[in-house]
Amino acid sequence: MNNFRDFPQISSLIKDENLKTYPLYLRTYFSKCVIKEMKKKLQKNLNENIEKTAILNEIQNKIKHFLKNDLQNLINASGVIIHTNLGRSVIDEELYENCKKLICSYSNLEFDLQTGKRGSRYDSLLEKFKILFECEDALVVNNNAAAVFLILNTLAKDKEVISSRGELVEIGGSFRIPEVIKAAGVKLHEVGTSNKTHLKDYEEAINENSALILKTHKSNFSLLGFQSETNLEELKILSKKKKLILYYDLGSGWCENLNPHLSKNEPEVKKLLKNCDILSFSGDKLFGSVQAGIILGKKKFIEKLKKNQLLRMLRVDKLSITFLNETLKFYLEKKFEKITTLKLLNDSLDHIKQKALKVQKNIKFKTSLQKSKSLVGGGSMPDKSLETFVLAFEGKALFLQKKFREKNIIGRVENKNFILDFRSIKEDELSHLINIINSMDTL
Ligand SMILES: *Cc1c(COP(=O)(O)O)cnc(C)c1O
Repeated sequence: MNNFRDFPQISSLIKDENLKTYPLYLRTYFSKCVIKEMKKKLQKNLNENIEKTAILNEIQNKIKHFLKNDLQNLINASGVIIHTNLGRSVIDEELYENCKKLICSYSNLEFDLQTGKRGSRYDSLLEKFKILFECEDALVVNNNAAAVFLILNTLAKDKEVISSRGELVEIGGSFRIPEVIKAAGVKLHEVGTSNKTHLKDYEEAINENSALILKTHKSNFSLLGFQSETNLEELKILSKKKKLILYYDLGSGWCENLNPHLSKNEPEVKKLLKNCDILSFSGDKLFGSVQAGIILGKKKFIEKLKKNQLLRMLRVDKLSITFLNETLKFYLEKKFEKITTLKLLNDSLDHIKQKALKVQKNIKFKTSLQKSKSLVGGGSMPDKSLETFVLAFEGKALFLQKKFREKNIIGRVENKNFILDFRSIKEDELSHLINIINSMDTL
């Protein structure tokens, strides 16, 4: 057909046999889209001949594309445990079940059951943070980026913040410390150089406009060779003497039961708190819970944050509060195996080997078992890796990577082989993984 009047009606397209299995809203929406596109095409070239089957095919392609983009489960065989693109930390099913009861019902989120008056949504978390971290006060916002913003905006607005040039970092997703400082209405006073910043650099920068010293954890890169930074203990003495606030943006905080290889030289939240006024970290990196910015520190500063009007815009939903609350309970009960991120990070090499062998034995394709190294990820511990076992497949690596990706299995290419890394694969995913691989005809 090459005439507008001959175009099929939407009502006839949505009844087509091949489209029938898809939901009506998708059939209707994409039929309209495709008809519009085809009419445009025809306007450009009146000789174009458009068949009804071409229209139907295009509708089906668009629906398939839409469904492929929908949120769905993946198997993370990349070996990167805190994988930002794959949703960072995974929630344990028992933890989820505990939350489900609270989320699927009304709760005392902001209601004081004793007085019958309005309560604070942060109260359920506060006491638990105090027990776990021995902090004076705590607050939770949407993510750690929001925490950095709120802290700077509240405690240093229209004043200066001092930061080492070696710590003016970019986190990814276009989050850059200098930009955030500017957006918070704070003037950045840079000190030192990219590789070295001494205590005297901070000292010399202090003037009547200084409000805060910011220390940022080098969470996603490491500096080797001729380098030095000023440590928190030295900055604590200086900030006290000069009556400045000392804030540590920790990024990815850990608190309990991390294996010694990973925790070596990594700052632990509880210890850091003794040396700064306020600190913040992400809820879904090493802490292993949901997206949140966890702020801990001195009561007099956190009270100020709570009074900032911006908090209303950065505040967390009951879903996040519920998940954090249940995570904190598991930490306090020392049920660390319920924190999936920690569980995977602490998994023994022997157990990882068993997981790999189980899959190797039960799939129809030939693989070889190899030792390799996994990354923590999530901008955490760039200079540390973890031993792991992988299964390497025979065949063209990039082709296989794509083929597995189409089946929602995310592996990586190493030494020209496509591999599945069992460090980041959970035990309860193994049978599903075996089934998917065996459902493939060939590799
Ligand atoms: C990850 C990170 C952030 C941002 O945290 P989000 O929770 O992702 O918003 C900020 N600062 C540092 C040092 C980080 O590592």
